[in-house]
Amino acid sequence: MKSLWTSFVRWFDTQHQVFDEGSVDGEGKPDWFRLTPLMFMHLLVLLVFVVGWSPVAVIVAALLYFIRMFAITGFYHRYFSHRTFKTSRAMQFVMGVMGNSAAQRGPLWWAAHHRHHHRHSDTDEDIHSPIAHGFYVSHIGWLTTREAFPTNFESVPDLVKYPELRFIDRYDILVPVLLGISMYGLGAALEAWAPQLGTTGWQMFVWGFIVSTVVLLHGTCLVNSMAHLIGTRRYKTTDESRNSFLIALVTMGEGWHNNHHRYPGVTRQGFFWWEIDMTYYLLKLMSWCGLIWDIHGVPEAAKAEKYTKLPVGDAATKPATPPSTPPAAGGAVGQ
Ligand SMILES: [Zn+2]
Ligand SMILES: [Zn+2]
Repeated sequence: MKSLWTSFVRWFDTQHQVFDEGSVDGEGKPDWFRLTPLMFMHLLVLLVFVVGWSPVAVIVAALLYFIRMFAITGFYHRYFSHRTFKTSRAMQFVMGVMGNSAAQRGPLWWAAHHRHHHRHSDTDEDIHSPIAHGFYVSHIGWLTTREAFPTNFESVPDLVKYPELRFIDRYDILVPVLLGISMYGLGAALEAWAPQLGTTGWQMFVWGFIVSTVVLLHGTCLVNSMAHLIGTRRYKTTDESRNSFLIALVTMGEGWHNNHHRYPGVTRQGFFWWEIDMTYYLLKLMSWCGLIWDIHGVPEAAKAEKYTKLPVGDAATKPATPPSTPPAAGGAVGQ
């Protein structure tokens, strides 16, 4: 009973009963009760057969998919996890809130797990490696474990010093719930003021929030699972990361994962013009507007490095990959 209560409170407060050393009770086992909202969201997708569809609801769902995918790849990944560019403190908070709206936990939790992935890619330590633990665990299974639940603050000393980021990381359900309510409100407003669009509050909630968020989660998870399984390897890295055009399209540029594991500190992940990287183009646009700066371009050495199509399973013999880039504690904000 006590553990059910603990799991329930953790829906709202991710610090509840998390001990100082960042551990929780019963590590390794899935915490099914805490996962109820996640599982419930997958079930709610079926409501599309109840609420029907309209062009406006599907367009909003697609827009929210791409805006939030950009927030995950451009902000959670290329900024919070790797600090590949700089920005102001206010913009940093906006980026944190936008990433948080994807319902993939808070920016500190996300970045800490991702830095861990780069430190231990495709070894037993890497909790979402398809090579070490199989497809299911790498794609979604790792998220269900108790050990993956707490935020490891020691991995993100450069982020933990901002109370506003700690707040959205601790109460990470807040922004997604507000987005869900806004979607209902948008649909209800359109129903009242533009009935010819054929939408309703519930229809917009189901498409704009539920469907969009579930598809976005699996799109993001593809980078952990499939981007280490399918595609080609340009660089010899200490893992099985791959470059895949298809994954790059779905994830707005994250499919150039072998490039990224070789040069994790580079903002751009598509190294050549044909390696489409929508996230980078949008970040470039933001830099022209003065919202972010000091974007790290592709080093000449990266292009000069001899192109070789490496066979599957070559990672065992590789030289060490340069360490991941996040600075120890120095802030990139405002500098
Ligand atoms: Zn990876
Ligand atoms: Zn990364």
